[in-house]
Amino acid sequence: MGELTTDIQYLPGVGPKRALLLKKELEISTLDQLIHFYPFRYVDRTRITPIAEVTPDLAYVQVQGKVVVRNLINIKHLSVIVEDATGRMEMVFFKGIKWNFDRLEPGRVFVFYGKPQAYGGRINMVHPEVDPPQEDPAATGRLSGVYPSTEKLKAGGITTKVMAKLQHAALALCMPEIHETLPEYILKQRGLCPLPYAIYNIHFPSDTRALQLATDRLKFEELFFLQLSLLKQRYVRSRAEKGIKMNIVGPAFHACYNALPYALTGAQQRVIKEIRSDLSCGHQMNRLLQGDVGSGKTMVAVLSCLIAIGNGYQACIMAPTEVLARQHYANIQKYLAPTGVKCALLTGSTTQKERRPLLEGLADGSIGIIVGTHALIEDPVRYKALGLAVIDEQHRFGVSQRAALWSKGPGIPPHILVMTATPIPRTLAMTLYGDLDVSVIDEMPPGRKPVQTMLIGQNRLRAMYRFMKEEIARGRQVFVVYPMIFINEKLEDVSNVEAGYEEILQAFPLSEGYKVAIVHGKQSNEEKSFNMDAFVAGRANILVSTTVIEVGVDVPNASVMVIRSAQRFGLSQLHQLRGRVGRGAEKSYCILVKDPKTGQEAQRRLELMCSTEDGFEIAEQDMKMRGPGDLEGTQQSGLPINLNIASLARDGILLEQARAFAQYVLDADPTLSSPQNALLASELRKGKYDIHDYSNIS
Ligand code: ADP
Ligand code: MG
Repeated sequence: MGELTTDIQYLPGVGPKRALLLKKELEISTLDQLIHFYPFRYVDRTRITPIAEVTPDLAYVQVQGKVVVRNLINIKHLSVIVEDATGRMEMVFFKGIKWNFDRLEPGRVFVFYGKPQAYGGRINMVHPEVDPPQEDPAATGRLSGVYPSTEKLKAGGITTKVMAKLQHAALALCMPEIHETLPEYILKQRGLCPLPYAIYNIHFPSDTRALQLATDRLKFEELFFLQLSLLKQRYVRSRAEKGIKMNIVGPAFHACYNALPYALTGAQQRVIKEIRSDLSCGHQMNRLLQGDVGSGKTMVAVLSCLIAIGNGYQACIMAPTEVLARQHYANIQKYLAPTGVKCALLTGSTTQKERRPLLEGLADGSIGIIVGTHALIEDPVRYKALGLAVIDEQHRFGVSQRAALWSKGPGIPPHILVMTATPIPRTLAMTLYGDLDVSVIDEMPPGRKPVQTMLIGQNRLRAMYRFMKEEIARGRQVFVVYPMIFINEKLEDVSNVEAGYEEILQAFPLSEGYKVAIVHGKQSNEEKSFNMDAFVAGRANILVSTTVIEVGVDVPNASVMVIRSAQRFGLSQLHQLRGRVGRGAEKSYCILVKDPKTGQEAQRRLELMCSTEDGFEIAEQDMKMRGPGDLEGTQQSGLPINLNIASLARDGILLEQARAFAQYVLDADPTLSSPQNALLASELRKGKYDIHDYSNIS
């Protein structure tokens, strides 16, 4: 009774010392947790490789051979030569010397299992597992699981073999208590095996088919419950959260629309339709608008704001930085000119004197649209009737700030439109934003020129400077970006970017008419704005900066983006930076400069940058190379979900199927209250699949 909750230390073979180790290293403290700790790969222990065929490229192999000699090279080094009909190889031990020496008697035959490696021109195995040969491989022969391990676990004697023994003992006790978590009808429709079978076979598969069945079932279950939980939350919220009903589009929208100097792209039109229908349906909108840099999100935001205005409400647009807020403000004012809607800017550096009329205008409703930084949600700000909040590049805003917005309105929470240029792969978006609706602008405005991207080493800096000079001579401008560098968690970018600035000043002296601006995180807001403005207005030829320019800044005349120490940047970040150029009519260039010690992995990523400009492809590749936890924008926090067996990077198709199935279940029974879904409801109540905190990732 109650074996699942039994403390791991009481399992035969564990005891208090190993229990502590399991807890510390793997966070396993009960039998239930133990049996949900799965192997990460499997080896076919039925296969014996002839020694002559063993090469160091093979992962793990099993050889069977007779001990020829055992040499005690010193007290900590035992060498054993083994031979089969095809050849000889050496087994090396640095631990358990006496024990291995005693049992590996010359003339006896053993099975050795381990990773072959080349050493001194020959092949050996260090610390192979040693077993007596099996009389009848078929009797015990099956795939055997390899469990994730750590140095400390191994040192504490918990090898993969020991882990398998523990699992075996735990399953013997727990099997009767493993109950099905999915209703019969789902198992049937999806062709899934029962849970007890899956758990047993994920540890001890009887054959590859059983392993496949077990893996499918467990992955599907994990992804299905995750999606079910997210979609159910969304359903509950969309019903609970009454939204401001915005019935009409209004004259301001039309005035702006008719005066646009260009036609909206198909994608922009589609997204505006989606937003319009959200705004008019009577529930609160929570929509994520994804669109690559330069895809024209600002226009969509402005038109959405004008719908709010048309219905007698106000709108705010929040940007992550002062520079961006000011640029938004400037652009938006242009769009608003034909509408007569009053727009204002509120940031950290708005003076007290300027603030007073602003706050009044917001409170009495005479200001229709306010653009700003998070100063917008600070305490003294009150709106007469905030109907829509647009949040640009929101990964820098947290959940609490989103919540603060709610308290600013007239009682009913405002609609929320979150915009991001971070091209989040579909599978990740489905999970992270499972409770948001997602719109994608997947089409660029016409006239964008491809950006030619190249990768160079430092030996070509001179040539690069010459090229920069040619571009500047043609009236173009150049970005030079340095990475943020953290040393002992302290931001050390400044010395880096300042050294870079000196270098650029030397190569581009004022005496020859070059003007260079510098922007970095440690400057005051005024300094930043001053330098930024100089570049935006064309007074500076070169802008040297850290990644503060990463998002949004629009300088159509800039044609070259130089990224120094490019190997230090994430792919998505490089993509964002590259999106800063190619906005004007001229041909643009992105030059990635790598440092001498760039690793292979980084090299591959930089080459990928040179080969494609598709942000989504880059994001997918990024996720495959680094795993979803490291994805840009999520890397500080890691993912808010722990997947045990499924992988967002690899199991994308299964995730989509699981989501569709969850939707299908909820369509028929939104509250999961029918008897056939009782199991699902009780599984969700356990809270295993809740995502608690979106703050760092959304
Ligand atoms: P982002 O999605 O990166 O915020 P912006 O909204 O800043 O992109 O738009 C990038 C540029 O494209 C701006 O200069 C904008 O005026 C222009 N633009 C937006 N929509 C269109 C369109 N439909 N046709 C042509 N140019 C457009
Ligand atoms: Mg933008």
